[in-house]
Amino acid sequence: SKEIHLVRRPVGEPQQSDFKTVEATVPDGAGAGELLVRNTWMSVDPYMRGRMNDVKSYVAPFQLDAPLDGGAIGTVVASGVPGIPIGAEVLHDLGWREYALVPASTARVVDTSVAPAPAYLGVLGMPGLTAYTGLTRIAPVKEGDVVFISGAAGAVGLVAGTVARKMGASRVIGSAGGPEKVRRLVEEFGFDAAIDYREDSLRKALAEAAPAGIDVYFDNVGGDHLRAALSEIRDHGRIALCGAISQYNATEPMPGPDNLGLAIGRRVSLRGYIVSDHYDLYRQYVAQASAWLREGDLTDEHMVVDGIDHAVDAFRGLLSGANTGKMVVRL
Ligand code: NDP
Repeated sequence: SKEIHLVRRPVGEPQQSDFKTVEATVPDGAGAGELLVRNTWMSVDPYMRGRMNDVKSYVAPFQLDAPLDGGAIGTVVASGVPGIPIGAEVLHDLGWREYALVPASTARVVDTSVAPAPAYLGVLGMPGLTAYTGLTRIAPVKEGDVVFISGAAGAVGLVAGTVARKMGASRVIGSAGGPEKVRRLVEEFGFDAAIDYREDSLRKALAEAAPAGIDVYFDNVGGDHLRAALSEIRDHGRIALCGAISQYNATEPMPGPDNLGLAIGRRVSLRGYIVSDHYDLYRQYVAQASAWLREGDLTDEHMVVDGIDHAVDAFRGLLSGANTGKMVVRL
């Protein structure tokens, strides 16, 4: 069976040649407390770019000449765990390979009657919880708030749009790259206004979309987006620092917002967070999001790339904006 190794640490944009497909032998069974899983879906996520660098962070770097890992869904083909039968669908952390021997403590059986399995990598999984945590716990949205979300057409951003509306936002503004994404944000995903950051002057477009300013900014992008949001944020505004994808491939330190001082006079709360500290919210979120899915207020939007041989393409595509919604690979 195949697995993908990192063979060189990318400089700037990751290249195919930084990765290698390796043949591995499939274990012939599962020991006590283990599950042998045939992966059917795997996730590619922006945080993986950070793990390709050899730097100390909140999550350990990937090792060279070893399989990458990350969120995956698969079918149990051998079980050493009473209560998890062969045939169960599980969510676990050993993606980037066709077969995985998974410690049961890191696996979660998913309920495919609520949504198809890959939804647990996106709208009902880590990205969904990231959006929910950001707008309920880190920068809580209050009734009547004007909310701005960058990276709005992605996995986290689309859910953030729904959460903002559900928390009572009076106006939700999104930004994304390209006319098609911006059109879909407004026509299909319920945003009140959308900004194409490749086309428009961010600050001007944001001021036009929110003439009285914004109360909450959900930051997936950093840099110029954070700068524009600081310019337009009102007194006592709240900012959830979720990601800074505009900087992940940077080889030089990028100029940061030069107007961070505005946060002082306006008494802005600006909080960074990592979703793994907030899994206590997961059950509550899945119950909530499942209801929103049923009612049609949340969409399970994802882009599927087929085959482990194209997993690196999927990852590269994610970083350059090929996806709307969650990018997943079908194995
Ligand atoms: P997405 O589905 O949003 O995919 C990434 C998107 O980023 C692309 O589709 C692209 O869309 C956009 N993008 C790429 N380069 C740029 C750029 N230079 N400027 C603006 N946008 C860019 O990924 P996720 O939803 O999984 O993640 C979104 C953000 O949330 C990331 O920053 C990620 O690191 C962060 N995150 C943080 C977590 C936490 O615990 N704090 C947990 C999970 C995610 P476009 O076409 O619009 O450019």
